[in-house]
Amino acid sequence: MILPKSNKLTDDQFKEVTGIVEEFDCSIQVIVGAVRTIYAIIGDERHDLMIKRVEGLPYIARVDNIQSPHKLMDVRSDLANHQVEVGGVKLGRELLVIAGHCTIDPKNPQLFYETAEAVKEAGGHALRGGVWKPRTNPYSFQGSEKSLKILMEASSRTGLPVDTEVMDEAHLEMALEAGVHILQIGTRNALNYSLLRNIGKAIAGRDTVVLLKRSRHMGPLDEFIAAAEYIANFGNPNIMLCPRGTMPTLEGYRNHPDESITPLLKERTWAPVVIDPSHSVGRSVYVEACCMAAIAYGADGLCIETHVTPSRGIGDDPKQAIQPDVLKRIIAKAERLWALRT
Ligand code: PEP
Ligand code: MN
Repeated sequence: MILPKSNKLTDDQFKEVTGIVEEFDCSIQVIVGAVRTIYAIIGDERHDLMIKRVEGLPYIARVDNIQSPHKLMDVRSDLANHQVEVGGVKLGRELLVIAGHCTIDPKNPQLFYETAEAVKEAGGHALRGGVWKPRTNPYSFQGSEKSLKILMEASSRTGLPVDTEVMDEAHLEMALEAGVHILQIGTRNALNYSLLRNIGKAIAGRDTVVLLKRSRHMGPLDEFIAAAEYIANFGNPNIMLCPRGTMPTLEGYRNHPDESITPLLKERTWAPVVIDPSHSVGRSVYVEACCMAAIAYGADGLCIETHVTPSRGIGDDPKQAIQPDVLKRIIAKAERLWALRT
């Protein structure tokens, strides 16, 4: 839809615009209003270059693109009935809870094994544990490959599928080789298109699931969904969208909580929404409230940093991780709230 700056294009302007869209096999339908006339593009109006050229004309205010830039992830796509499943939980039908350490301490595997058992006992369906860590401070602990073995050992002890973040192609290869079930793409890599493409290629034909975090800096929701489209494009659409708070922060919280975007995402995409309250609010005392808000907003799942003894944790755990008894209470309350939604 082309909106001119004035109420109507002159004949010369109309000719120029028509000339551009015809180069892209489109045409223009004129819609005359009482005051303003608008110009609908007929044909495939997703050509970026066509839109840029029309928008570049000095007498054009803007071009509204009504077609979705994400064909596969769109709520109207043929994939809308695609069922993402994690650890026997069918997303959308039942609440999914992923829980575990921010960071696995390679020197203390026992702590992770204890947390893994406690997560299972509390009713969690999948285990999270950071092996490689994206740290803002380059001198902070960056994670260790040794933790991959611990993660997989915890999976085989509990029977729970596991989630870990991959930051580059080497991690991706090692994680898939080890049998990691859920690949997490962190907020810092959420717009790393070359990594997204490589993950899409690597998981095609597998039942691997991706937990795609929302980028840290607020961007349009379409940008978030388009990031998922990069992955789905290669054939595996098992993608969960994970809002985790954005910058700038809300005073008192680590980030600006964004669980409220859930209904907006659901209007645009069929992808399940799994909220990460831990990185959003950044303090264990606020996590429970954030989880409840997420469920009230219609989220399909939660990914919560949980630790048997947060004070002995590394990474974010001492500040953010809840303990398994709190996890158990959150799951019970979230399920009650979930039941009220229908
Ligand atoms: C994490 O899950 O521990 C993490 C680093 O997440 P994010 O990418 O959302 O900061
Ligand atoms: Mn963390």
